Amino acid sequence: DEQRRWEEQHLGAGLSRSGSGAKAGDEPYQLLLERSLPVFPYREDLLSAVSKHQILIIEGETGSGKTTQIPQYLYEEGYTSGGLKIGCTQPRRVAAMSVSARVAEEIGVKLGNEVGYTIRFEDCTSPRTVLKYMTDGMLLREFLTEPDLGGYSVLMIDEAHERTLHTDILFGLIKDIARFRPELKVLIASATLDTQKFSTFFDEAPIFRIPGRRFPVDIYYTKAPEADYLEAAVVSVLQIHVTQAPGDILVFLTGQEEIETTCEMLQDRCRRLGSKIAELLVLPIYANLPSDMQAKIFLPTPPGARKVVVATNIAETSLTIDGIIYVIDPGFCKQKSYNARTGMESLIVMPCSRASANQRAGRAGRVSAGRCFRLYTAWFTHEMEETSVPEIQRTNLGNVVLLLKSLGINDLIHFDFMDPPPHETLVLALEQLYALGALNHLGELTKLGRRMAELPVDPMLSKMILASEKYQCSEEILTIAAMLSVNNAIFYRPKDKVVHADNARMNFFVPGGDHMVLLNVYTQWVECGYSTQWCYENFIQYRSMRRARDVREQLEGLLERIEVELRSAAGDTVLVRKAVTAGFFYHTARLTRSGYKTVKHQQGVFVHPNSSLFETQPRWLIYHELVFTTKEFMRQVIEIDSAWLLEVAPHYYRSRDLEDAGSKKMPRKPGKSREDLG
Ligand code: ADP
Ligand code: MG
Repeated sequence: DEQRRWEEQHLGAGLSRSGSGAKAGDEPYQLLLERSLPVFPYREDLLSAVSKHQILIIEGETGSGKTTQIPQYLYEEGYTSGGLKIGCTQPRRVAAMSVSARVAEEIGVKLGNEVGYTIRFEDCTSPRTVLKYMTDGMLLREFLTEPDLGGYSVLMIDEAHERTLHTDILFGLIKDIARFRPELKVLIASATLDTQKFSTFFDEAPIFRIPGRRFPVDIYYTKAPEADYLEAAVVSVLQIHVTQAPGDILVFLTGQEEIETTCEMLQDRCRRLGSKIAELLVLPIYANLPSDMQAKIFLPTPPGARKVVVATNIAETSLTIDGIIYVIDPGFCKQKSYNARTGMESLIVMPCSRASANQRAGRAGRVSAGRCFRLYTAWFTHEMEETSVPEIQRTNLGNVVLLLKSLGINDLIHFDFMDPPPHETLVLALEQLYALGALNHLGELTKLGRRMAELPVDPMLSKMILASEKYQCSEEILTIAAMLSVNNAIFYRPKDKVVHADNARMNFFVPGGDHMVLLNVYTQWVECGYSTQWCYENFIQYRSMRRARDVREQLEGLLERIEVELRSAAGDTVLVRKAVTAGFFYHTARLTRSGYKTVKHQQGVFVHPNSSLFETQPRWLIYHELVFTTKEFMRQVIEIDSAWLLEVAPHYYRSRDLEDAGSKKMPRKPGKSREDLG
């Protein structure tokens, strides 16, 4: 192990990997990789800075070794003696898993022992774990059980530049505990962006800069805008593959669906070209990708072949893939956006920021001079924002407000935010929690609110789960909650079998709507003994089902803790749908003459074509989420009776909101219905 570790440290990733099967040495270009990480020469300086200062900002180019090396240095230096832990947060689950696996491998321990990770619904740690990687959301939840985080000697808030909601809240809370825990060390690690701002926020904490080494990257733009960036990306990959010198390719897309489509297109075209071209390994990477598939992107490319990694912006800064020389960047990303007036949250594909575009281009220049092909015009860069807006300013804050309230932080207006959220967003979060019954009219946490905070899910979902107690359907609701947590990855729809796949999906349709369909899928899977074969035959993704099963088990354990009894509604779908309504009554839409409109704000919305209710178009619907692609689509919808709204949310709905409920039966005066009055 000593020997291996020395090799890791001095020869780097490319060589040490050769043991695991591939002959890295055959390919001269693999040898160039990572003889040393930029952080290596700074080990001693860094350790002495940490010992001198309580809070340190660490700035370094992506791939310089911040995430994988610094916690190891501190571990070697004895910061974990006495059973204390070093915690390192990541905004993304995939990064927490993959980086901890890498560190465990470098140290030579089994993942889950000394080195582990915790992400929502998955805890891969043990009492022996001293190096703990976790999502920022999980560390935030640890405040609930241990308000001073006394088990940690060091907290490294990594990828701070991402400015996720949870990271931003952690900044405020950690700054606070650092004041009365002088022995606690806090490291704020970031790519080379915005670090002065972190220093200012943390009372002028010093900035430790790890000088980067970066090769020049030539940037190319298209002459005219691309109508179809997926097609353009596929063509560019093949052009590079056929005409350019060796080196792997990284393509940035916005999400799983696009990535899967693009991978299929690439594989398809390579198959048709057959032996006319060299081997092209097509590898996807996105948050929901199973971990064994994730690990593949790090394996060295076999000699003579080329690797193309098709990624979300997870590969922008969170993960570093060695050997990338070419980057293809269509210039888009998927972002949550929030309308504080209507309370509507939705995912939107939009141009990425210039800062992101630069990070993406930078990925091509780590091992040698590289090239970045931007699938947009040079002029388009003026359309891009300089940097992206911190998540706290464009998201629903219900979750975080509930958590802060449970920590006894009542004055949210004066919380120490690095960038405060818009006032109306805070107010709306309070209002929503009040309507859900989590806060009383004084803004204090209710008993229900306290129980809701125990569940690591959004307030609407936790309200739904708790409402299942009243409606005696916790068995069904747990399944639905678990299935929703993996919802877009249940049905498998390969390009060459679209008709079969769609038929298989429709065979699961049952009355009531998509939640009931998900329940049906899960129930059938349980009945056939969690069979892989059954999944295969029914175009269901086995891995997603397994994940749903894990999530369900976790939730079941949590319900036991908050003493909710497991009960089944025994086929009564009204009870189940009422429980869903009790949590998601905000998400009500009604059918009007001009299509679906949300009830409170009259916003036009559409049933997603994949929904089981696409044909039926019932009068009243509850949707799980909105996704904006070509229009505002409701994904996962159920049919409800409008009377239920008054039953579950008497504070929120008045009967006049729901007046046209019976108008199907009532004779309507032409041109004078409520819908026309809007
Ligand atoms: P930083 O945090 O500064 O961006 P990292 O510590 O993540 O840098 O990366 C340092 C090196 O470790 C990179 O060369 C990267 O390729 C390698 N690395 C990180 N995670 C993995 C992994 N899961 N498998 C293989 N190599 C990895
Ligand atoms: Mg990192």
